Amino acid sequence: MRIHNFNAGPSVLPKKVVKKSAQSIINFNGSGLSLLEISHRSIDFLEIIEKATFLIKRIMNLNDDYAILFLQGGATLQFSMVPYNLMNQTAAYLDTGFWAHNAIKEAKKFGKVKVLFSGKNKNYTYISTNYHIPCNMDYFHCTSNNTIVGTQMKIFPKTSIPIVCDMSSDIFSRTLDFCQFGLIYASAQKNISSAGMTIVIVKKNILETIRKNIPSYMDYKIHIQNNSILNTPNVFSIYTSMLTLKWIENKGGLSILEKNNQKKAQLLYDEIDKNNLFENKIHKENRSNMNVTFFLKEKHLEKEFNKMWKKENIVGLDGHRYLGGYRASIYNALPLKSIQFLIEIMKEFERKFS
Ligand SMILES: *Cc1c(COP(=O)(O)O)cnc(C)c1O
Repeated sequence: MRIHNFNAGPSVLPKKVVKKSAQSIINFNGSGLSLLEISHRSIDFLEIIEKATFLIKRIMNLNDDYAILFLQGGATLQFSMVPYNLMNQTAAYLDTGFWAHNAIKEAKKFGKVKVLFSGKNKNYTYISTNYHIPCNMDYFHCTSNNTIVGTQMKIFPKTSIPIVCDMSSDIFSRTLDFCQFGLIYASAQKNISSAGMTIVIVKKNILETIRKNIPSYMDYKIHIQNNSILNTPNVFSIYTSMLTLKWIENKGGLSILEKNNQKKAQLLYDEIDKNNLFENKIHKENRSNMNVTFFLKEKHLEKEFNKMWKKENIVGLDGHRYLGGYRASIYNALPLKSIQFLIEIMKEFERKFS
């Protein structure tokens, strides 16, 4: 039975990755041990970290100026770890959604935050490019994809200060010049692996200005020195992410995934725009290729629509609890077939009720 998994996170992973990961829980590399039973200091695990690091650098075209870390605490911990490490006085932030807003809230505990743009009074339905980044800020923080509302930054500003980006919900979904970023973080449960692990990609030289005495777990430099095993890491999630990274390369890398993702998103947005019963509220140039949000124009049809998709093995289509409506999260591993299936349901619904 095929389940169409539109969950926002934890979310759909490649079938092959899940299968291999499951086998490794029973018997890891023929060792007779479960992946859950191996030491995080064993050669086997060190090879996994090394391989994952190597693949991330190759996929993103990054050189050894960058360090790759596999941490815990989710993107949420990064909301405070970033200012703890990088903020001396003032940092610039974009307020483009609920997660961006939380990042700002945490940063304010460490210093001054200058919000260069806020989409809050327009319900975060667009992202301005019309702002100026003062060059005396410690860093500039943005969220590349706003998972809840369904917007995505298509271009990033040019600036001489480090750009810090929360890429939790669109990392590895498109090609970008990743060297323009000083620090990228992404929790694994959207497009990479299971929950409980966060990838941090940091340009080492931006850490040189730190003057503070930082608690060890919060200090990027200490994690770099310890190769992500300062304490016991999430072995399972790191292993599974390594499998996903291999899958990405086997698919042909980010340019191929980007094409697939654009196609999938375009099909769904086209249907929402054509269909008499649904609407998307995001400015067209900011529509996300990862999280497609839509609403019924007539709210009283909600019960009927919910009944219809829920009986068809579609899961995870409910909008975020803050917003209501619907959200189709269509990450890398979601097959085109699932999009086509959802579109058929939306068409059938239109035929019946409009
Ligand atoms: C999911 C998400 C987060 C929160 O991640 P946690 O791992 O739950 O801390 C932060 N930012 C974005 C953009 C997200 O999509």
